Amino acid sequence: MPGRLFGTNGVRGVVNEDMTSDLALQMGKAIGTVMGGTVAIATDTRNSAHMIKMAVSSGIMSVGADVIDLGVLPTPAIQYYVKTHDDVRGGVMITASHNPPQFNGIKCISSDGTEASRKDEEEIEAHYSNDILCASWNTIGSMQRVRDAAEEYVNAIISKVDAEAIRKAELKVCLDCANGAAYETTPLLLKKLNVRVITINSNPQVEFPGRPSEPTEENVGDLLSLTESMGSDLGIAHDGDADRCVFITTNGKYVSGDKSLALLSGYALSKRAGLIVTPVSTSSLVEEVVEEAHGVIEYTAVGSPIVARRMMEAGAVFGGEENGGLIFPDHQYCRDGGMAVAKMLECIVKEGPLENQISRLPTYYTVKKKVECPNEMKKDVLDRIAKESAGAKIDRTDGMKIIFDDGWVLARPSGTEPLFRVFSESKDADVAEGRAERYENLVRECLQDLS
Ligand code: MG
Repeated sequence: MPGRLFGTNGVRGVVNEDMTSDLALQMGKAIGTVMGGTVAIATDTRNSAHMIKMAVSSGIMSVGADVIDLGVLPTPAIQYYVKTHDDVRGGVMITASHNPPQFNGIKCISSDGTEASRKDEEEIEAHYSNDILCASWNTIGSMQRVRDAAEEYVNAIISKVDAEAIRKAELKVCLDCANGAAYETTPLLLKKLNVRVITINSNPQVEFPGRPSEPTEENVGDLLSLTESMGSDLGIAHDGDADRCVFITTNGKYVSGDKSLALLSGYALSKRAGLIVTPVSTSSLVEEVVEEAHGVIEYTAVGSPIVARRMMEAGAVFGGEENGGLIFPDHQYCRDGGMAVAKMLECIVKEGPLENQISRLPTYYTVKKKVECPNEMKKDVLDRIAKESAGAKIDRTDGMKIIFDDGWVLARPSGTEPLFRVFSESKDADVAEGRAERYENLVRECLQDLS
């Protein structure tokens, strides 16, 4: 096994190919050794959830640590549990988020509820590669099932919004959980906020994910039409582990993650002046809205733990990613799909229909391309793009962001997949499209020349 196990989002792989019960068991031993004490564990709804959870749990107990099994939960719900229970030293979430159902993953959570830092991951990796000493038979750990975590999480969210105002508004929403981890928590949250909810793909008994679990516009077509035909105030779609969500307007219009991030940034700044943190891949739309609201924007490398840690250090007001991952610092320093739902409801109640709010935003055109690229060639491709872009204004926070007077292009290797991503943005659609094609072709040419 190579030294580095963890990608941008924990350890992920195809079940019984790279993500095996053997790997999970050894990971469990390493995690139990590093975290010690009591470790919480939860899963999403994948068919491999139990297999991986039992193997990890067995490993944790074998080195003398105890396991608290929280069942199926959104990733932010186990993070909240770990953060608020002092006897819990850390957490393990079994999920591959938006990846297809054949994948699963192991994600570690620090005692403060944040995603494990690279330093913590390195410590686990170091143990993983060694023989791990098991506890003697009479000091092995125990496993206990706890059922309150979902409700604790939902109640915490409700305490962070103007629940009375939302309850009075008697809103109606359509919800699509991709048959994933939010099937219990988000309907419960909505019910407690007196919101009438119509669900699709919110049944954990049927096959995950019901629709492809990345909540892109193409993947949530049923929800778009349902929201419109039901005349709902809002449509909500989660990814598989519900750390993210995207929104749909009453008229069945898909609201991109950039737009909801911009909107909720403006809303946060209307309450408290300060800093908004987001990765370099985010639309300039957010920057424009933030500056208009007299806020300050700061860009980081891509990856939600990086955004969350920077927010923590800098005392940011709000932050998040262009993919529907939003971070609310007065709740917790991680992406939180449930919290995003509650805050968006509050924002609609206070500021008017989502449709109207979206129509006031400036228009940017963002074109996103991906090119298959073997991991070992990523660095060479990046070097070639740098050479080709010599003389241009470049931001190397993550990959390469080439900044023009009328837009930008970001070319960056994926942290989780053998892919190169090319994002291009401009207020002029043709410019955005033209540059996206040019850089996509450039990546392809580099790959051809290199192979
Ligand atoms: Mg996710």
